Amino acid sequence: MPNTSDILVIGAGIIGVTCALELARQGLKVQVLDRQAPGRGASFGNAGHLATEQVFPIADLSILKRLPAMLLDPMGPLRLDWRYLPRALPWFTRLLLNLRPAPFAGTVEGLRQLNQASLPAWQRMLASIGHSELLHLQGSLLMYEKPESHTALQALQQRMRQQQVAVEQWRADQLHRAAPELDRRAQGGLFFPETGHFIDPYTTLLAVVEAARQAGVGFIQSEVLAGQVLADSVTLQTAQGQLSSRRVLIATGAHSASLVKSLTGVQVPLDTERGYHLMLPNETGRLPFAVTSFERRFIMTPMAGGLRLAGTVEFAGLERPPNHERAWQLLRLSQGLFEQALDAEGATPWMGFRPSLPDSLPVIDQACGGRVLLAFGHQHLGLTQAAATAELVGALAAGRPAPERFRVDRF
Ligand SMILES: Cc1cc2nc3c(=O)[nH]c(=O)nc-3n(C[C@H](O)[C@H](O)[C@H](O)COP(=O)(O)OP(=O)(O)OC[C@H]3O[C@@H](n4cnc5c(N)ncnc54)[C@H](O)[C@@H]3O)c2cc1C
Repeated sequence: MPNTSDILVIGAGIIGVTCALELARQGLKVQVLDRQAPGRGASFGNAGHLATEQVFPIADLSILKRLPAMLLDPMGPLRLDWRYLPRALPWFTRLLLNLRPAPFAGTVEGLRQLNQASLPAWQRMLASIGHSELLHLQGSLLMYEKPESHTALQALQQRMRQQQVAVEQWRADQLHRAAPELDRRAQGGLFFPETGHFIDPYTTLLAVVEAARQAGVGFIQSEVLAGQVLADSVTLQTAQGQLSSRRVLIATGAHSASLVKSLTGVQVPLDTERGYHLMLPNETGRLPFAVTSFERRFIMTPMAGGLRLAGTVEFAGLERPPNHERAWQLLRLSQGLFEQALDAEGATPWMGFRPSLPDSLPVIDQACGGRVLLAFGHQHLGLTQAAATAELVGALAAGRPAPERFRVDRF
């Protein structure tokens, strides 16, 4: 294997490849290592939503009341594999502690900062690689069906406005004009004009990979097993032998904790929120933008290859096989949302590992005197935040400090 890079990026998900491109453009010699072909992790099948409006962590105090009912429903939007509970308990404890007012406000501030930087960063990156067409900036909608949801959505709108999120309240007639295929029982919703969706997250990732190759980045398929930081270099043990470089970047998504421990000695409380999608290849043109159902808690995104139904959170760790019933449950959830039922012929299920830290913020930082850069833990927002993360990692590599909120020593 070639052994001559300035920086080895471990992980060819959307975070790793956007960072690799950014670093190569700084004149660094970059190689990317992944045990699979690029883009086969969580970045392959996400919902494609540029979700800059999501400035609140997924859990808040209101979830505590709903939690028992949610956990007892095996097909509900949130599922815990009870066998996994002992492993997940420390993570849940930290999550609960982060719901206290001060840490919660810190999370919102961090998400807001990163999300505000996300759209312009993606626009710069896509324009620079000649693929602006992959991002459709037509907004997105959070719709509701039950009249009693109106008050909750009004409160949410208020809280979002306080965080400078662009949000409009839509009545039923506005909603049906914009998305006429939606069933008449849709009462209205919140529309986010400054959001959008990628028409294919995987194609987007491959476009970044291609641009990175053209900028001189090498891609190697090999698993990194462990590593060691030396005085002037970093050595990685890979499935195919040893590699060394001046620096490494750990961008292995939900799989990052063991590598971070091996290389830096730091224990990060990273877990995975497993999520599912069901891709409906015959469903093109049903929706003009991504639509999330407030009550049913899943998203439907119009993509080049059909309509993608996505969502659900499952705590079951990295080893258990997928439960694709949860992906098919998304189809059942869609029933009644459209005037005419969706066509599920040829539908394909998928599961991916969201990399989640208990305060809902990523780690974007460096350790070991700058020999090890870190970019992981983007939970539900890794696609949204990838280009902005790449710019922050580029700044780190150029010697500028990490933003405080994303530091690895905050735990
Ligand atoms: C159902 C679902 C819907 C989602 N919807 C959205 C959305 O609409 N918008 C949004 O912004 N985000 C969304 N997300 C979240 C987003 O997909 C993730 O945050 C993002 O993909 C994480 O990217 P990553 O590069 O960190 O991880 P990954 O894409 O998982 O990449 C990590 C890579 O590291 C490699 N790797 C791991 N360990 C090793 C090792 N030891 N050696 C070598 N290689 C290794 C893996 O093979 C993998 O390719 C969604 C996620 C899911 C599951």
